[in-house]
Amino acid sequence: MDQTSPAAAGTLQRWLTGPRVGGLPHLAALPAPRLSFEFFPPRTEALEAQLWACIRRLEPLRPAFVSVTYGAGGTTQARTHATVARIVQETSLVPAAHLTCVGATRAEVEEVARRYWEAGVRHIVALRGDPPAGATGYAPHPGGFAYAADLVAGLKRIAPFEISVAAYPETHPAAVSPEADLDNLKRKIDAGATRAITQYFFDTGVYLRFLDRCAAAGITVPIVPGIMPVSNFTQMRKFSAMCGAGVPDWMGTLFEGLEEDAETRRLVAAVVAAEQVRLLQANGVDEFHFYTLNRPDLVYAIAHLLGARPAPRG
Ligand SMILES: Cc1cc2nc3c(=O)[nH]c(=O)nc-3n(C[C@H](O)[C@H](O)[C@H](O)COP(=O)(O)OP(=O)(O)OC[C@H]3O[C@@H](n4cnc5c(N)ncnc54)[C@H](O)[C@@H]3O)c2cc1C
Repeated sequence: MDQTSPAAAGTLQRWLTGPRVGGLPHLAALPAPRLSFEFFPPRTEALEAQLWACIRRLEPLRPAFVSVTYGAGGTTQARTHATVARIVQETSLVPAAHLTCVGATRAEVEEVARRYWEAGVRHIVALRGDPPAGATGYAPHPGGFAYAADLVAGLKRIAPFEISVAAYPETHPAAVSPEADLDNLKRKIDAGATRAITQYFFDTGVYLRFLDRCAAAGITVPIVPGIMPVSNFTQMRKFSAMCGAGVPDWMGTLFEGLEEDAETRRLVAAVVAAEQVRLLQANGVDEFHFYTLNRPDLVYAIAHLLGARPAPRG
């Protein structure tokens, strides 16, 4: 190439004056990640088969635990229980059952928890829950647990469960203020939770600043980032608007024009999630919770990039 061409001069000029970006650290320099995977309980036989294929694919990565969600308004109680019970009976995995306050009395929620304990389940993800579709806002059930902090305290009275709770780097949408939301997280920890799992986020800086705020508030339990690999950007953007997760403009640009091109979208999604987790890892984060949506491939690939390797057979 002609070194005196304007293009070459421009490149050199950019190199001399622009930002210099260092590479991310190599895996050998980093600890193996501690992983957890979240599934939802299936509604149909076909979805059940998909879930179990997903579980079997991810199981060799030896996650610290896998969790099973509880449908909005407590609508999946039986299916959540059945899925968790099957994980106990048929896999080597440690399950965590999500449990919410919505639409049930304290006695009913406590009964569900007791049944989990009897089935050998020792870990609960304790949540307030969202109201069922169509309801206008959240109203505590009369005689129910009003908020997740109350549920955590109630569970601790039943048995020495390990308890994880939700945290919101971008603040829960119904919170009075970021400070009030952080106080709420602290109350959940003080009531007995030993881990927070975050709502998913795409701006890694927001999460890292949230860690600073948690530390300043005296919260010392792990605040595990919830990672959402994006398979359908349009759907994800709609969902994010409801749950208060910001979708940065740069993501829109990355997925632009790919609405009809699932294959390229998948590759882009893998890069977006990989960059996010590797940047978190470079910042010292070594625990990751994946929202799998019962689809294993992207999660498996990203976990591999983080250094997770399947257990040797036999
Ligand atoms: C990791 C994770 C897993 C989830 N799994 C499920 C699931 O399986 N099923 C499901 O239905 N939903 C699930 N959700 C969604 C969750 O239920 C909703 O985000 C819900 O709106 C809040 O639940 P919470 O446990 O964070 O509530 P809380 O911690 O109780 O907080 C809810 C809101 O109330 C405010 N608040 C708390 N205490 C008080 C008080 N005393 N007075 C006034 N305001 C108060 C808080 O600041 C916050 O705005 C999950 C979310 C996360 C992040």
